[in-house]
Amino acid sequence: MKAEIIAVGTELLLGQIVNTNAQFLSRECAARGIDIYFQTVVGDNEQRLLASLQLAASRADVVICTGGLGPTQDDLTKDVLASFTGRKLVLHEPSMDAITAMFTSRGIHMVESNRRQALMLEGSDPLQNDTGLAVGNALTFNGTHFVLLPGPPKEMKPMFMNYAVPWLQSLMTDEVPLYSKMLKFAGIGESNLEHQLLDLIQAQSDPTIAPYAKEGEVTIRLTTRAHSAAEGEEKLKATEEEIKRRLGEYLYADQDVPIETIVLQLLAESKQTLAVAESCTGGLLSDLITAVPGSSTSFLGGIIVYSNALKHKLLDVPMEVLEGEGAPGAVSSETAVILAEQLLVRTGSDFGISVTGVAGPSPSEGKPVGLVYVGLAQKDAKTEVFTLQLSGNREFIKQRAAKRALYQLWK
Ligand code: ATP
Ligand code: MG
Repeated sequence: MKAEIIAVGTELLLGQIVNTNAQFLSRECAARGIDIYFQTVVGDNEQRLLASLQLAASRADVVICTGGLGPTQDDLTKDVLASFTGRKLVLHEPSMDAITAMFTSRGIHMVESNRRQALMLEGSDPLQNDTGLAVGNALTFNGTHFVLLPGPPKEMKPMFMNYAVPWLQSLMTDEVPLYSKMLKFAGIGESNLEHQLLDLIQAQSDPTIAPYAKEGEVTIRLTTRAHSAAEGEEKLKATEEEIKRRLGEYLYADQDVPIETIVLQLLAESKQTLAVAESCTGGLLSDLITAVPGSSTSFLGGIIVYSNALKHKLLDVPMEVLEGEGAPGAVSSETAVILAEQLLVRTGSDFGISVTGVAGPSPSEGKPVGLVYVGLAQKDAKTEVFTLQLSGNREFIKQRAAKRALYQLWK
């Protein structure tokens, strides 16, 4: 099904708010085999909204509108669709009752315009609003399916997921449903990963192969059409095997989970513990780890040794290593090793990870932005150091450094 999203609101055109509704709807539609061909933004203006609806109806099977279902004079979406379809606006009694009850319970006077939120197009299906007052609408007119959703994301999202999706899916009964699988990679950048799969990506038809990078991790989504999970798995198998053959060393999960979750699972299974010493990541690594529920089973804690003074004071890095003529410096494999090993001594953990590097924007100790050392110390084993040259801005380098540290431990 070809679909179009129309986001209604002058504040969108003025750049006062970001069109997050379109992003959400596009993503959720794509996941359900509804292909978004166009996204339109139009102001709260009758003529231009009507023109947008006409254009959308001429080229899409499904038109999803957000915004303009409220009580005020600039909320026009239902009125304009009513004139486009030649349908009347009628009162949806259950919504009217809910609105009246809300005003009564709060002891505030209801004005006539609030009635507008309970209006729907004659012959349309109401879409219940569990988090607000304006009722949504779904209707088919001249072969085009229209879905009207409110603007506020906290109303739009549950209405879409709980009521609009089932309505749309009831139109798609003869389509074979989509089956997707996520492969998650760490320790490799998106462009390098894509490069190694270029022939597969260029030749893709079924399954489709969609790589994308987010928050320091790379994901590949494999998608096919299948009646059951077993059939889906079977259809994805050959492609998945080939990707594993080429990039298996970076593939840490075949579901959409962050690497910290997998690392903590492995630590818990082997009853081992972890402590971290962070310089350039400034606590981000600890933050990622502690975002996982149950992390306390294996994570003892982290120390942010940002200054040289603290690296020396708390984790015994000699000042001669950190500073002075010919010293390796804070950003060095020597420092990374000592930090990681001292964690084992001080905390008694089974693993110690250290991260020290130059997050930018300017070089430090004469070392380039993006140079990061990750130390990995392990009880009864030789300490390893990994030298990374990361690119991007400060935020990105911190994120990549934290994820790479987790990747080295996973590996
Ligand atoms: P209300 O009853 O609040 O008036 P509405 O359905 O009439 O809801 P709008 O008046 O168009 O919707 O927008 C209300 C608010 O919802 C906006 O001020 C904005 O905060 C949010 N909003 C609207 N459209 C979008 C969008 N496309 N993306 C993100 N937020 C949006
Ligand atoms: Mg409004």
